[in-house]
Amino acid sequence: MSKTERSSRAESTQLPIHQHGEKLVGAVKGSQFLVVTGETGSGKTTQLPQFLYRAGLCRDGKIGVTQPRRVAAITVAQRVCQEMGVRLGVEVGYQVRFDDCTSKDTLIKYVTDGCMLREILADPNLTQYSVVILDEVHERSLNTDVLLGLLKKTSGGSRGRTVPLKVVVMSATLQTDKLSAFLGHCPVFTIPGRTYPVKELFCGRIGPKEMDSSVYVKEVVKVALDVHTNEASGDILVFLTGQNEIEKACDLLFEKAESIDYRYDVHDRTVEGLLVLPLYGSMPTDQQKQIFQPAPEGVRKCVVATNIAATSLTIDGIKYIVDSGFVKQLNHNSRVGLDILEVVPISKSEAQQRAGRAGRTSAGKCFRIYSKEFWENCMPEYTTPEIQRTSLTSVVLTLKCLGVHDVIRFPYLDRPEERFLLTALKQLYQYDAIDRKGNVTRLGKLMVEFPLPPGLTRALLQSAALGCEELMLPVAAMLSVENIFIRPGHPEKQKEAEIIHKELAASAGSSNDFLILLCIFEKCKASENPSSWCKDHWIHWRAVKSAFSVETQLREILFHLKRQKEFPQETFEGSSSELLRHCLCIGYFTNVARRSMGKAFCTMDGHGSTVHVHPSSSLFGQEAQLDWIIFHDVLVTSRVYVRTVCPIRYDWVKDLLPKLHEIDVYELSSVAREEVTDEEMAQWVKKTTDQHRPGEDVSRK
Ligand code: ADP
Ligand code: MG
Repeated sequence: MSKTERSSRAESTQLPIHQHGEKLVGAVKGSQFLVVTGETGSGKTTQLPQFLYRAGLCRDGKIGVTQPRRVAAITVAQRVCQEMGVRLGVEVGYQVRFDDCTSKDTLIKYVTDGCMLREILADPNLTQYSVVILDEVHERSLNTDVLLGLLKKTSGGSRGRTVPLKVVVMSATLQTDKLSAFLGHCPVFTIPGRTYPVKELFCGRIGPKEMDSSVYVKEVVKVALDVHTNEASGDILVFLTGQNEIEKACDLLFEKAESIDYRYDVHDRTVEGLLVLPLYGSMPTDQQKQIFQPAPEGVRKCVVATNIAATSLTIDGIKYIVDSGFVKQLNHNSRVGLDILEVVPISKSEAQQRAGRAGRTSAGKCFRIYSKEFWENCMPEYTTPEIQRTSLTSVVLTLKCLGVHDVIRFPYLDRPEERFLLTALKQLYQYDAIDRKGNVTRLGKLMVEFPLPPGLTRALLQSAALGCEELMLPVAAMLSVENIFIRPGHPEKQKEAEIIHKELAASAGSSNDFLILLCIFEKCKASENPSSWCKDHWIHWRAVKSAFSVETQLREILFHLKRQKEFPQETFEGSSSELLRHCLCIGYFTNVARRSMGKAFCTMDGHGSTVHVHPSSSLFGQEAQLDWIIFHDVLVTSRVYVRTVCPIRYDWVKDLLPKLHEIDVYELSSVAREEVTDEEMAQWVKKTTDQHRPGEDVSRK
């Protein structure tokens, strides 16, 4: 055993949870469902699976631990391997979308909740598992909420199992009564542990009107530097919303810290330096490891992180929190009828959770860069569960494929609004994934096999039906990884990158952002040295490399499906660029817009919102020559922008467009609404049409 393994094992046995290991194992053995709660950092995620493993609960199957976040699944699996002194991917492993690091011998498996949902699709009784631990349930991610309902529902049946599946639900100290009641009043195990007081200060400079990211990034940096120079030793954890901001803040911190004269400027003379470290989801894992290592003697560590550091990951030694008050959240925007990743104020409970990270091992301080006014007027009490604010299309298809026909009466911990379920049904009908009666079609059963958003899956399946998947597979892969274009901070470099990106776009032959992605994928793949090709063209090699791997995986799924199931076949006459655009139309026809005036486009999905082409698109500036377009996603700032755009012909969508309006959602959900009277129905229809009046913003939060 190496030195780090020994020390990590020694550290972990200091955790309070270790005094309760036996009781905890007993509680798991004694009940089919168990709720476990305890302060973050008490050892739930890393220790409980090890206790169960040592107590022999793996004899009948694996222990699966779900995580809402991909990075958390990977990091925690690595940590547990280190503590147990085993190799990652053997006894202990992880599985996240497009990255499976497990083997047939894996006994403790950390998975994202999305992957677990896919496992249930393949094996509804989870026969490979003896225990499933749903972790971070307080986060209320869409997939975890659905898993909770499914595991509650299937608990009665034990087909294909020798012993019933044990389900442990873990949560920070929130809503445990509600969880227990939901699971038939199952026992609750509370891990005792102490926390230290955290002094919460409103630095008060950011008011409700100054929500701009450039403002709060600067403010956060300023406050963090104040803490560094004025406060006693102890590490700092800064909360921002995403990679760009975090990198900007780290650059600024680094730059400003250079000019500190440690002889005069700092209050605590033992502090002699600042180590600035970023932490966000798409960061390479070897860089993430650094976050957990203690800083050298005399150096203060300052971690600048997304919300991932709020509950999923615990960094020891944090004494000061600097909270921006914002988070990036996926919300359904009824103005455009799409899910949009937006920056919103956090809830008060979230702010308290963030503050709590400073009081784990000693008293701490939390500096909030916003004002008390902001707290009172802009921050909601609690975060709305994801199931009540995002698109349910994928989830409803999954449920339908699992035989849950009546998706409206499914046991939800918090029920989504019915109209959102109906919207999901409508979309599935538009994709031909369900029929008029709400039954899954042959196509729907194919669609559910792909870990992609429904529109993209539909386009991919269309390409397969036409035998041109070589065009769509790379596009689907490129759209599934982080942004591939490097945008350097330095103005001159930025210009250079822009020119090269424009040249790449021109070489694709026609202005179509999807085609450009395909072209970059192919060029890079064909080049002698792909990584230096990327460097020369200001393209993120890491992103393209993952796209290569994603493409292979999607290809494999398609290959298996083609062998197992009867596959639709269609024909289309046209060039390969037209073929690609036709497939995209089939997938994205719900995202179709027509130019209305000047540079503005109007969406055709019944919302009739006005959208503009984003400056990052190759079609930006050519709007006047366009008529019809489809788009992949939307960015809302002062305007609604569409990104990744493709020009299309009216001919290709002509027959599809009526589908956007014709169906009666009542018919699709007939199972659920049998006892509704005609009068009620008429009222309901009026209500939904009112709610969807074009241009009106009915926020889902
Ligand atoms: P919980 O799930 O209750 O929030 P965890 O099991 O995630 O707690 O963490 C327990 C403790 O293990 C943390 O307080 C931290 O000290 C340590 N720890 C967890 N992950 C790591 C890691 N990747 N590197 C170093 N220490 C870690
Ligand atoms: Mg945890």
